[in-house]
Amino acid sequence: MSKQYSKYLERAYEKIPKKIASEERFEIPVPSSAIFGPKTIVYNFSEICQKMNRDPRQLLKFLTKEMATAGSVDGTRVIFQGKFNDQTINQLLHTYCDRFIICPICKRPDTRVEREDRFLFLICDACGAKSSITSP
Ligand SMILES: [Zn+2]
Repeated sequence: MSKQYSKYLERAYEKIPKKIASEERFEIPVPSSAIFGPKTIVYNFSEICQKMNRDPRQLLKFLTKEMATAGSVDGTRVIFQGKFNDQTINQLLHTYCDRFIICPICKRPDTRVEREDRFLFLICDACGAKSSITSP
């Protein structure tokens, strides 16, 4: 990951209004990570997936794509190639939640992702809404 991209993510993180973050009913797990040489380990990856109620492979696919790197699950941890700080990973988890978890209609996290042909939909169990996911 380039320095510039990392800076961009940091700035994006700062732009999240504190008010909205504190009003969230759904708490996004905070990543616990450390950088070892050229790699970054996220220790609580399986816990994050459990709290988000998402398939670890789905989340890993999203993260590696956004971080433009490779990663592999190792037990309850995930190991990424490259150096990424907590804030970067944290920001990406927020992006993931906005796109793949929080229902855009009722703002609740009681959703699941379903695939139809090439398209992904967010099905909300709380309000019954079916929203298309604009996946890059
Ligand atoms: Zn809903």
